[in-house]
Amino acid sequence: MWTLVLNCGSSSVKFALLDPTSGEVRLSGLAERLGSGAASVRVDRGGERVTHPLPGGSYPEAFGVLLSELGALGVRGDVGAVGHRVVHGGERFSAPALVTPEVLEAIRACVPLAPLHNPANLAGIEAAREAFPDLPHVAVFDTAFHQTIPEVAYRYAVPEAWYTQHGVRRYGFHGTSHAFVSGEAARMLGRDLSDVNLVTAHLGNGCSVTAVRGGRSVDTSMGLTPLEGVVMGTRSGDVDPGLHDFLARQAGLSLGEITAALNKESGLLGLSNLTNDMRELEEAASRGHAGARLAVDVFVYRLAKTIAGMSVALGRLDGLVFTGGIGENSAGVRAATLGRLGVLGFEVDKAANAQAVRGQAGFITTPQSTPALVVNTNEELMIARETARILQGEHA
Ligand code: ADP
Repeated sequence: MWTLVLNCGSSSVKFALLDPTSGEVRLSGLAERLGSGAASVRVDRGGERVTHPLPGGSYPEAFGVLLSELGALGVRGDVGAVGHRVVHGGERFSAPALVTPEVLEAIRACVPLAPLHNPANLAGIEAAREAFPDLPHVAVFDTAFHQTIPEVAYRYAVPEAWYTQHGVRRYGFHGTSHAFVSGEAARMLGRDLSDVNLVTAHLGNGCSVTAVRGGRSVDTSMGLTPLEGVVMGTRSGDVDPGLHDFLARQAGLSLGEITAALNKESGLLGLSNLTNDMRELEEAASRGHAGARLAVDVFVYRLAKTIAGMSVALGRLDGLVFTGGIGENSAGVRAATLGRLGVLGFEVDKAANAQAVRGQAGFITTPQSTPALVVNTNEELMIARETARILQGEHA
């Protein structure tokens, strides 16, 4: 049975048709610039790539193209379910959920927590239910994996009423990726997931670090929003909460302007004044660009500090996982991070680390070191698996 996985953003839909058991991908692609006159959808059918214009620029139009592509492949009748990525499930969802009117209402109730993402996810689910009315739809939440984090790690030291009345607490994100790579890492370590303590570092445009004890998230670096934690492409990560008041007074900036700058003009981009792209930064740093060098150094320092902090949540550290575009490809970031983590018993194997690029998973530390490994994340496959799991449970 094929599962269609959809990730609906405000102006894009990423999709993939895959087999949750084998991981085989039959069709994948991306609809972009939705809501504008320049919208288009790119479809990859196993090596062959086509692009269709979407003059209406809407979700229904994009799903119409997807339906005709499935028809042309002769697989429309073999699609058994649709799995949707949903960013915020609040405290309500600690697992994926079969989409029902009640579940849609609960996702809507989480909109204040993710005002940019949840409305787009909802609109995508509603349009997909109209396009695929005969299929079960499952919502898989970015936050759900982190609902096992204990109160001591998820509460902020702020007035209690902020938590009880407004839900101000740490939620965490990237849960699908952290869950997937912990399973893969346990397998590569030859250990049972329930018996292994890992730190997983998902380093893409957004970056987060999670402590996973026995397959359960027990702490993570992102918080109420995806802005907290380590340095990211354009997001600042942790700053002094006094910064807002200071900048409002000193620079006359509004709250909205400060928040936008912390999300879109900070991180690697803000530090380097050059780019948010780690590959370009590494090249510029090697040519002597001081801002690029500083950006990479701050990124690595803060990452190492966060990984060391996460070990507190675990007690015993059995392995460190690097994943995401930077984690899977940047041997430089990995080596520099491990170089700062000698205190946790890490020692990089330079040759193995240099080899673990371009999708090559594997160990990157010496035999006597605490193990560190590169794992290729696969959020689509995880969403497809979770979708299948929920449907099996539903039918049991
Ligand atoms: P997203 O979070 O949008 O899915 P990715 O996981 O693709 O993003 O990660 C994007 C990041 O990965 C960018 O900073 C990019 O520069 C970095 N990256 C990709 N390939 C390399 C590479 N070969 N060396 C260093 N960084 C890389």
